[in-house]
Amino acid sequence: MRCRKEEELVELVRRNKNYIKDGKVADYIPALAKADPDKLAIAIYSKEEGCLSAGDVGELFTLQSISKVLTLALAIMDVGKEQVFSRVGMEPTGDPFNSIAKLETMVPSKPLNPMINAGALVVTNMIHGSSVEEKVGRILQLIHDMTNNPTIGINDEVADSEYESANLNRALSYFMKQHGIIDDDVEMLLEAYTKQCAIEVNCKDLARIGMVLANEGKDPETERPIIPRYIARIVKTFMVTCGMYNASGEFAINVAIPAKSGVSGGILSLVPNEMGIGVYSPPLDQKGNSLAGNKLLENLSAQYELSIF
Ligand code: GLN
Repeated sequence: MRCRKEEELVELVRRNKNYIKDGKVADYIPALAKADPDKLAIAIYSKEEGCLSAGDVGELFTLQSISKVLTLALAIMDVGKEQVFSRVGMEPTGDPFNSIAKLETMVPSKPLNPMINAGALVVTNMIHGSSVEEKVGRILQLIHDMTNNPTIGINDEVADSEYESANLNRALSYFMKQHGIIDDDVEMLLEAYTKQCAIEVNCKDLARIGMVLANEGKDPETERPIIPRYIARIVKTFMVTCGMYNASGEFAINVAIPAKSGVSGGILSLVPNEMGIGVYSPPLDQKGNSLAGNKLLENLSAQYELSIF
């Protein structure tokens, strides 16, 4: 691996800590507003070195939109690529992650991609399971397998807080139900979706998830297949084209590796065949990406020439 010393990561965290003050912690989900804005952490997982980390790596945070990468993989495993993409598109939107605008004008009528909220709701709808518990249990099982951490669970306070305030996601879901894109009961779907978003991890867990994707879907220690290779490739491609919402193009230019962010301030990233990366810092930029986290990744990429292009 290119980065061999934890001290180098410590220095990167130190250099980027200042950016924290330029961002704003998400508060449209009331429970997220309780996050400590002063945190910045990074973990890197590689086969040779295991996990290196720096900063506030013990901090737990919820996956939020990072979960969309994992539910997409699970939905394709459950119902197949053709079925998934008959109901959700493959193109970036250029709109904010929660935008409702294009749903009405798209022909055929389906969300543009699985990384925006509308698309992710359709994806969760397609995951096998006859109850919320079963669906969410299967998502958790996949995460336990990828992280090798069976203690990972749901932050109920964050899940309840989002469920109660998810009026925009409710509107998106009812709109799609009306148009036959969603067939689940909407309230059950919202419960499953808000729970998947409230799955709680730390940066090291994220780095190991990234490493499994970087390792073509296989466990980095045992080489046991967890996600089929072609599905790992699909989700990595979405991370490049849509993973940072409507800042994905800029991120691809400046950081040039696959990444997926969430409004809690986490970023899942990776370098194919080389490393998984987990970053956390709650204050967000205007497009909803972790501000210091983004800068930290930009510096990391420049320092170690991580570009996949
Ligand atoms: N749970 C959040 C929502 O649906 C996830 C959004 C995000 O992380 N961008 O609004």
